[in-house]
Amino acid sequence: MRLSIKGKLSLSISCTVLVALLLHMVLNYYTTKIKLVDALEDQMAALTQQISLSVEQAYETEKVIDDLLAMQLYTDSLYINARLPADVEQISSEQLKEISQELGIAHISLLQKTPDGSDIVIVQSSDPKEIGLSTKGWGFWYTAMQELFEQREVTVSQGQKFKNFWSGPFAASTSDPQYDDKWGYYYDGSRDYMLNPFIRNNNLESTLQITRPDTVIKQTLKMQQNLLEVTAFNPVTFDKPPVITERSDGIRFIKVEDQPIRFGSHLFKHQEDKLHIQTASAGEPVFIQTNIQGMNVMKSYVSIEMDGKPPYVLGIVMDAEPLLATLHEQLMHNIAIGLVLIEIVLVGSYILAGTFIRPLQFILQKVNMMAVGQFHSPLEIERNDELGTLASRVNLMADNLDQSTTRLRSLYEENRAMKEQLESFINQSTDAIHVMDLNGKLERMNQAFVDMFGWSQEELLGKSLPNIPPMLSDSHSEVERQLLAGRATGALETQRLTKDGRLLEVSVSTSPIYDEYGNCIAWASITRDITNRKRMEELLRRSEKLTTVGQLAAGVAHEIRNPLTTLKGFLQLQQQTHKMNEYHTDMMLSELDRINLIVSEFLILSKPQAVRFMEQDLRVILSEVQSLLDSQAHLHNIEFTTHFDDVPLVLCEENQLKQVFINVIKNGIEAMPTGGNMVIRLEKLNEDYVRISIQDFGVGIPPEHLGRLGDPFFTNKEKGTGLGLMVSQRIIYNHRGTMEITSEEHVGTIVKIVLPTAHMTSQYLSEEQVQLQIR
Ligand code: ADP
Ligand code: MG
Repeated sequence: MRLSIKGKLSLSISCTVLVALLLHMVLNYYTTKIKLVDALEDQMAALTQQISLSVEQAYETEKVIDDLLAMQLYTDSLYINARLPADVEQISSEQLKEISQELGIAHISLLQKTPDGSDIVIVQSSDPKEIGLSTKGWGFWYTAMQELFEQREVTVSQGQKFKNFWSGPFAASTSDPQYDDKWGYYYDGSRDYMLNPFIRNNNLESTLQITRPDTVIKQTLKMQQNLLEVTAFNPVTFDKPPVITERSDGIRFIKVEDQPIRFGSHLFKHQEDKLHIQTASAGEPVFIQTNIQGMNVMKSYVSIEMDGKPPYVLGIVMDAEPLLATLHEQLMHNIAIGLVLIEIVLVGSYILAGTFIRPLQFILQKVNMMAVGQFHSPLEIERNDELGTLASRVNLMADNLDQSTTRLRSLYEENRAMKEQLESFINQSTDAIHVMDLNGKLERMNQAFVDMFGWSQEELLGKSLPNIPPMLSDSHSEVERQLLAGRATGALETQRLTKDGRLLEVSVSTSPIYDEYGNCIAWASITRDITNRKRMEELLRRSEKLTTVGQLAAGVAHEIRNPLTTLKGFLQLQQQTHKMNEYHTDMMLSELDRINLIVSEFLILSKPQAVRFMEQDLRVILSEVQSLLDSQAHLHNIEFTTHFDDVPLVLCEENQLKQVFINVIKNGIEAMPTGGNMVIRLEKLNEDYVRISIQDFGVGIPPEHLGRLGDPFFTNKEKGTGLGLMVSQRIIYNHRGTMEITSEEHVGTIVKIVLPTAHMTSQYLSEEQVQLQIR
C-alpha cells in the first residue's frame, strides 16, 4: 500500500503518542502496583503490630489473672494449712475433697520427699489419680519444690512472690493433660508434707476466653475483610519433628511453648515458609506476593518479641485479589483513555498534517505540470518556512525551465529548418555531393552523385570512391595525402569514371568537416560535371585560335609585306642597274632583320621551345635581365632602382620568364624617351605568392588603349610589333600567375606580375599536370 506523506506523518505522530501512552501505562501500572503493594505491606505491618499488641495484652491479662489465681491459691493454702493436721497419715482423701469443695478449687494434693531424698512424690490427694505421681521429671517445677522444702526463696518463678509459696504457670494437667491446671505449692516447715492446691482452668474459661490470642485473631479476621489468616509461628520448633515431653507416668504431650504454631491457623502453607520465618526471626520482616491454593495473596512474616516470653514470628496472609482488581481496573481505565486519546491524536494529526502538507500538494501539482511542459501559473504560497522557500524556488525553476525550453524550441526549429534547407540543398543540388570519413570510406551522398556516376547508394556506402580513373590514381592518392595533412583543395579540374565506363570532366572541391572540438572528422566533396563546359571552352578556343590565326595571318602578311616590298624594290633596282649600293644593302638587311624579328617573336607562340620547369630564384633571374638591359638603358638615359626581397623559389621556365621581364622593361624604357627612373620590385605577398612590379614614369597609356593591351599587333610605336605583351601574358598565364597593368597618361605605368611559389604549385599539381596544363 502506498501511503501519502500526510498519512505517514499522522501515523508516525500517532505511533509516537501510542508508544508514549504505552510507556505511561506500563509505568503507571507498575508504580501503582508498587504503591498498592507498599500500602498493603504497611497495612499488614500495622495489622501485625495491632495483633501482636493484642496478643501481648492477652498475655498480660492472663498474667494478671495468673497472679490473682496465685494469690487465691496462697490464701487457700494458708487456710488449708490451718485446717489440716501436721501428720500426713492423719489426712484422708475425703477430707481433702471436702476442703476443696469448700474453697471451690479443683483438688488438693500433698507432696513428700522420698526417704532417700531423690524424689518428691504425691502422697495424698483429693484426686485419686494423682496419688503416687513422681515429680522428678518436672524440670523447674521440681527445682521450685526442692527450694520450697529447703525453705529457700524460689528462683524459678517470675510472678508475684509469697512467703513459703510458689505457683507455676498454667500447664497441662498432670493427671489429665486435656486440662490446663494452675498449681500452688505451700510449705512452711510446720508440716511433714507440702500443700498443693490447684485450679482447673475451665472454671475460668469464659474469663480467659475473651483475652486469648485466638479470640483476638478471630475478631481481627472478622474486621479485616481481606485478611485471610494469622499464624504465630514458633521459629524454634516450626517444621521440625515435634518436641514431645514424656511425663514420669508415661503420658506424652507437647508443651504449649513447643507447639510449632503458637496460635492462629496455618492453612495457607507456602513452600518457603521455613526460610521466611528464619529470615524474620533474624530481625528482618519478610513480605511476599504469591499464589496459594489458587489465590493471589500477600504474606508477611514479622518477628515479635515479648517480655518474659519466647519470641514468635507472626505470619499474616492477605488477599491480594482486590489489589489486583484495582490495578486491573486502573489499567482498563488507562487503556480506554489511551484509545480515545489515540483516536483524537490520529484525527488531529491527520488534519494537522493536511494543513502542513497542503502547500506540498500544490508544489507537487506544479511540478507535475512542469513535467508535461506547462510552466505558467506560478505557485502562490505565502509562507516563511522551508515550504515557502521551496515554492519560490520551484517558481524560479519553472521560469528558467520555461525560458530554456522556449530557447531550445526555437533553436530546435532553427536547426530543423537549417537541416531541412541543407538536406534539400544537398538533395536538390545538381552537383554531386559526397561525404567521406577519414579512412576514405563513403558515408553519404546525394541523388545527384548517384545520377552522375550510376552507382546506387547501397553500392557506395562504406566503400572507397570507385570513380577514380586508373591513370589518375597516383595523383588522387597525392590529393588524399594532402587532405589528411589538413589542407583543403580548391576546385580541382580532373576526370572521373562513371559506372558504365565513361570518362567525365569534373571539377572537385573538397573541404573538411569539423566536430565541436575542431577535430576534422570527415571530408565533404562537391563534384561538378564540367564536360560540357570543357567542350564549349574547347570550341571557343578553337574558334578564337582561328580568329587569332586569321588576325595573325593578316598581321603577319601586312607586317612582312612592307619590308618585302622594300626588298623587292631594291632587288628590282639592282636587276636594272646591276650595281650593288651599300646603302641599299643596309636597307635590305634592316628589312630582313625586321622580318626575322617578327617571325621569331611569332615562333615563341606557335612553336614553343622545350619547356622545363625548375625551381628558380627570381632575384637571380631579375638581376640577369637587369644586367642584360643595362647598356640599352644607359643609351636612353635611364636608371634602374631595384628592391629585391628574399622571396621563396618559384617553379618556372627561366627563359620564358626572362622574356616576359625583358618585354615589360623594354616597354618601360620605350615609354620614357627623355630618360628617367625605373623601379623594379620583388616582394613576397605570402607563403604562396610573390609579386614583381615594374614601374616607369613615362608617357603612360590612354584609357581607351588599356583594353587593347595584349592584342596581337597592337602597338603605337613606329617599329613596334605589338606582340610583346601578348606573349608575356601567355607565359604568365601558363605559370598560373597573373599580370595586371595600371597606367595614367603622362604619369607612368605599373606592371604587376604575381606568381605562385614552388611550394604552392607543387601542392596542387604534379609536375606532369603542370606540363599538361601549360601545353
Ligand atoms: P610594341 O612594344 O612592339 O609596341 P607591345 O605589345 O610591347 O608592342 O606594346 C604594345 C603597346 O602598348 C605599345 O605600343 C605601347 O603603346 C603600349 N605600351 C606598352 N607598354 C607601355 C609602357 N610601359 N608605357 C606606355 N605605353 C606602353
Ligand atoms: Mg614592346
